[in-house]
Amino acid sequence: MARAWHLINRPKGLPTDEDFALEDVELPPLADGMIRVRNRWLSVDPYMRGRMNDVKSYVPSFELGQPMDGGAVGEVVDSKAEGFSPGDLVLHMAGWRDEAVVPARAAQKLPDLGAEPQRFLGVLGVTGMTAYFGLLDVAAAKQGDIVFVSAAAGAVGSVVVQIAKAKGMTVIGSAGGPDKCELVRSLGADQVVDYKAAPILKGLAAAATEGIDVYFDNVGGDHLDAAFALARNNARFAICGMIENYNDPTPPSFRFIMRIIAARIRLRGFIVFDFQSRMEEFYRDMGPWVASGTVKAHETVVDGLEAMPDAFRGLFAGANTGKMLVRL
Ligand code: NDP
Repeated sequence: MARAWHLINRPKGLPTDEDFALEDVELPPLADGMIRVRNRWLSVDPYMRGRMNDVKSYVPSFELGQPMDGGAVGEVVDSKAEGFSPGDLVLHMAGWRDEAVVPARAAQKLPDLGAEPQRFLGVLGVTGMTAYFGLLDVAAAKQGDIVFVSAAAGAVGSVVVQIAKAKGMTVIGSAGGPDKCELVRSLGADQVVDYKAAPILKGLAAAATEGIDVYFDNVGGDHLDAAFALARNNARFAICGMIENYNDPTPPSFRFIMRIIAARIRLRGFIVFDFQSRMEEFYRDMGPWVASGTVKAHETVVDGLEAMPDAFRGLFAGANTGKMLVRL
């Protein structure tokens, strides 16, 4: 018998305990091509909030009364699939639970990059890919650019800061509170803005006296508006996430949006899976950066399956620095 978190209500605003239930689930017998995996690390991610709504998007909604899923790293404990043996560590999508039977084709053996397993949910996984391709491909950021990144102490943001510094860019990072700002500075950011100490527009205007060439948006709302206000001509914006609105359906309003025209701002939204076929390129650069410490992994670890909903909600309260992970 395994245990899995189920979504039992569609949350209104920030999810509450009443929206989730941890229930026993019977695992199916192991058929050919399947593996049984005991999860070691589970990922909680802001995008999961969108999946709790009943709306069509780039990933299907969680079904009511059914187990939720998400990124996980686990150990194979039984296998009827060629190439997979007990003891192998795999990355797969049957998260939010302790044990799962999954098709081997939907699991990836962890590449041998000499890294700890949980890194493949963070800096060497979706988080790292989002930062890498979002900054270097979507925003086409290059040496000498002035880059502004929001949620800079978070999972994606902290990696963006470090890649940008490794590539010779000037970096301005925003985060909530003095401790997080100190962390962002320690990652190499040239300027930090505490958006909780003063309105982001005021903070960014003081930090970006020459304007910005690139904005890596994790937050949306006022942060995006401030970036419009400070954009230099031909600025490129990678629109990665808008966490400010995930629990609040009120559409944001933008005072400075018309600067898109005069400053010829190029906005491009993206989904990290657009870059799935370029995984090798990502490992080629990020593997050595992580091994050499050029890019350091920052993680906030919460223990126990029971803690999943709290860990998830913590993302919206800024409870994490770096990647939020649950360890089983
Ligand atoms: P983070 O680790 O950055 O966690 C979220 C952080 O956002 C919090 O720690 C908090 O930091 C900040 N935050 C929360 N609420 C607000 C708010 N109302 N205003 C400002 N800041 C807030 O998460 P991820 O790195 O995993 O994700 C970052 C963003 O990237 C999200 O928007 C996510 O949806 C998006 N994303 C998009 C992908 C894509 O393919 N497009 C893939 C992966 C992520 P603080 O304490 O500083 O406020």
